[in-house]
Amino acid sequence: MISESAFSMRVLIDPGHGGHDNGAQSQGLREADVTLKIAKRLFKLLDKDKNIQYSTTRTYDKNLELQDRSDKAHQEEADLFISIHANASLNPRARGTEIYIQNILPSDQYSFFLANRENNGEASQRGTRPSLLDKSKYKADVVGIVDDINRNHFIEKSYDLAKVFEKRWKKDMKVRRVRMRQAPFFVVSSVNMPSILLEVGYLTNPKEAKHLNTSWYQQKVAKTIYQALRDYQAKEF
Ligand SMILES: [Zn+2]
Repeated sequence: MISESAFSMRVLIDPGHGGHDNGAQSQGLREADVTLKIAKRLFKLLDKDKNIQYSTTRTYDKNLELQDRSDKAHQEEADLFISIHANASLNPRARGTEIYIQNILPSDQYSFFLANRENNGEASQRGTRPSLLDKSKYKADVVGIVDDINRNHFIEKSYDLAKVFEKRWKKDMKVRRVRMRQAPFFVVSSVNMPSILLEVGYLTNPKEAKHLNTSWYQQKVAKTIYQALRDYQAKEF
């Protein structure tokens, strides 16, 4: 039980994809819809909890650039960033939940990654983390070093957050294993706060797709995310 005096925690919930960005599509399902449905159920649970404040990147089927999502996290001064996704694989037997946190990349590689994203038109020049962009020009300057320290700090915190989710997932979703991975996903790598990207299941797996399309399972996933947030709050706030 969290006491009334507990510090409130601000979470930004990011239902992945939306609008013309469908995300994965399989078994008649569209990732953008599944992520929003789960998120809406999560909002209802969070509405009843005054110790956790939340905001969201979207409440309807709208298109958002990845940069808009991370900009929003900074505008809202969120303590945590949770991006909800559903997975896809060429192997229809691929299944299960995966939790991603940002990669620990040497700064050069990180710059390359940013550059790549910009070339793909996914990250614009405006907005966040100008010091990282500058760093490719002014390597090893003080800003760069401070940035590296901060980034390592957030990676550590993200790892703690992912561990809390893993534990709660195993318990409430009754699964033996949750895969934890690191990947340079833009949304989790570009925010200055603990952040995870949650792949709640595979739309390409017929059994998981069937589950993900039912309200009871969406509710179960939403509730597990909510409980994990409470666990993290009890631990860290
Ligand atoms: Zn996705």
